Formats: sequence, structure tokens, C-alpha cells
Amino acid sequence: MKKCSDFCKKLSDYLDRELSEAECKLIEDHLRQCPPCAIIFQGLERTVNLCGKGISDEVPLAVKQRLINFLRNRCCSDYVNK
Ligand SMILES: [Zn+2]
Repeated sequence: MKKCSDFCKKLSDYLDRELSEAECKLIEDHLRQCPPCAIIFQGLERTVNLCGKGISDEVPLAVKQRLINFLRNRCCSDYVNK
């Protein structure tokens, strides 16, 4: 019998459809029996779906913008005000 952590490691492979049919079935069975793993899976699935729609591309941009704002406020305030 596998542990939850073993399933969690395989969830991303499962979503990428890189597992064999037998492995997929093992994971599906486990998700039905194990609410904590099912919750992790749902979060992962949502993230993967967002990536597929290209929404994830906006995340690095947002991070970049925040970094720029941070630099402007902290390090480059003199430079920006000129
Ligand atoms: Zn589990």
C-alpha cells in the first residue's frame, strides 16, 4: 500500500497524462478515498488549467511589476524622481 506522499508526487504526472492506465486508476481510487489528497489534486488541477489558458503568463509579469515598484520605492527613488 502506497502512502499519500507517493500519490502527491505523481499528481502532476497524472495531470500531464504521463502515467500508465494502471497508475491513473490507482490515483483515482486514492483520491476518492482520501479527502486531503483530493483537495491537493483540485488545487493542482486548477493551476494546470490556468497554465493551459495562458493565464499563468501573467503571474511572472505581476511579480516583475511588484519588483519594479519595490526597486522604485527603495533603491531607485532618486533616479525615478529625476
Ligand atoms: Zn492521500
